[in-house]
Amino acid sequence: MLNESNHFDTHAIRTGHRRTAEHEHGEPIFTTSSFVFDNAAQAAARFAGDEPGNIYARFTNPTTQAFEQRLAALEGGESCVATASGMSAIMAICVGLLKAGDHLVSSRSVFGTTTVLFEKYLPRFGIETSFAQMTDIESWKAAIRANTKLLFLETPSNPLTEIADIQALANLAHENDCLLVVDNCFCTPALQRPLSLGADLIVHSATKYLDGQGRIVGGAVVGNQQLVGEEVFGVIRTTGPTMSPFNAWVALKGLETLSLRMKAHSEQGLKLARFLSTQKCVEKVYYAGLESHPQYELASTQQSGFGGIVSFVVKGGREAAWRVIDETRMLSITANLGDVKTTITHPATTTHGRLSEEYRKLTGIEDGLIRVAVGLEAIDDIILDLSRGLEK
Ligand SMILES: *Cc1c(COP(=O)(O)O)cnc(C)c1O
Repeated sequence: MLNESNHFDTHAIRTGHRRTAEHEHGEPIFTTSSFVFDNAAQAAARFAGDEPGNIYARFTNPTTQAFEQRLAALEGGESCVATASGMSAIMAICVGLLKAGDHLVSSRSVFGTTTVLFEKYLPRFGIETSFAQMTDIESWKAAIRANTKLLFLETPSNPLTEIADIQALANLAHENDCLLVVDNCFCTPALQRPLSLGADLIVHSATKYLDGQGRIVGGAVVGNQQLVGEEVFGVIRTTGPTMSPFNAWVALKGLETLSLRMKAHSEQGLKLARFLSTQKCVEKVYYAGLESHPQYELASTQQSGFGGIVSFVVKGGREAAWRVIDETRMLSITANLGDVKTTITHPATTTHGRLSEEYRKLTGIEDGLIRVAVGLEAIDDIILDLSRGLEK
């Protein structure tokens, strides 16, 4: 029955759990490192791959598989592999699908640590990366070489909420025999389904909205059986950054409320963005749900909601931005996001602090820029908390 359902919310709640002989209603956590065989012949058959089934929890675990199957259903993918973190998901794609002499093109506006992986570590293994301006298809075209194998992007971008055209970039990738990888962390499948737009692989940091309550670090890759079920899975089972059963259980339960939460984060985000747009001391607001956003049209067709990340620039540079942050009493000053608790951060001196001042200016990470990841507290209280510093 479930395989026939096209409904996101049904999969989010029902897919993945195979009830055991105990007839439990809630999904169990299998805290076991290995699995027992009926006899030596079965052990041999499992190890030889002739019989499906669990062997050892670095390879598979029923709780982790429940999360994988549920997330695969939500993204509309054949296969999902859960990982210890979002970064190990990205690393496993690179190790599994690239080799020395290959090249990848990444959006400039990706998670900072992803850039470090591409610029510092991959070159040691003979893999080079070029960076493209995510909203400009010509910039991607110019960066592609004969040996390019992957295009990598994140949309909306962090913290400036730029939107990449997934369908156009999937077409460009395929014309050049490349795969398109989309980090779908900010929208989650509740708001955006990149595979249906032509992307080949989805990356997640389950740390963010999939868990949704800031409790775990985790990640996942979703795609077809060959790329994910074989290549990426092979890297994870060999190198070891598997997701623990406990973390898988937390993320699994997070998926049950994902669409409700993302809808609420989007409603709150729009309210906050509209409020900030009316403030005299706010120079600019970045949120794709505002009609003034340059990619409002694209975001409206590509996404079913605009998400919870709102960034804005206050007049008065770093000093003014720090004052707004320091005057808050409820908001959490932390770089994490995707939590029911609202978080606030100053990108120029935290997440983007390593970059040169010129580079930050060039890419819009101004000193007055503040990023808020809107949580699910009453929006009036969130606005009140931000207003304390805005008034000064
Ligand atoms: C946090 C984040 C990551 C990395 O995930 P971890 O779980 O911290 O390893 C990757 N991409 C995006 C967009 C993120 O926000």
